[in-house]
Amino acid sequence: MKFIVDSMLGKLARWLRLAGQDVIYANDFPPTAESQDESLLLRAKEDYRILLTRDLELHRQAISRRLKSIYLEDDDVVNQLVEVSNHCEEDVRIDLTDSRCPVCNGELNQVGKEEVSGRVPENLLEEHEDFWICMDCGKIYWPGTHWETIAKIAEEYEEKLG
Ligand SMILES: [Zn+2]
Repeated sequence: MKFIVDSMLGKLARWLRLAGQDVIYANDFPPTAESQDESLLLRAKEDYRILLTRDLELHRQAISRRLKSIYLEDDDVVNQLVEVSNHCEEDVRIDLTDSRCPVCNGELNQVGKEEVSGRVPENLLEEHEDFWICMDCGKIYWPGTHWETIAKIAEEYEEKLG
């Protein structure tokens, strides 16, 4: 599944990428039409992406053009993930071993510590064995405190999904 999300859903975009989904965020690409809405609709059509939006009018426009669109009613990101899961045939489970870069949507490659030596602080090399590098932007990830926040949200999501 591939998604495109409107400018109000930047947080959801990052979460879906962590869940391994291919997601384009409205604010990450230059407008190709006179309005951002129009640019989103064109891109959704070109790439066969499912539109996720908080904007009911935009959702209606997408449907009238026979595009796949999911209108999200809730502001809470966990509830949004549950809504997306319920609308799609496959679950968007958050699997940290199969994530995309939350910043740029690039694919992450798991590497050993020798490959990131000199690029992360020394103490991280002592504390961790596994690192992930984004194949597109080069950002390096490791299971740190941020990871615990992610795990907590992932757990909350699993509970709500039932
Ligand atoms: Zn990246």
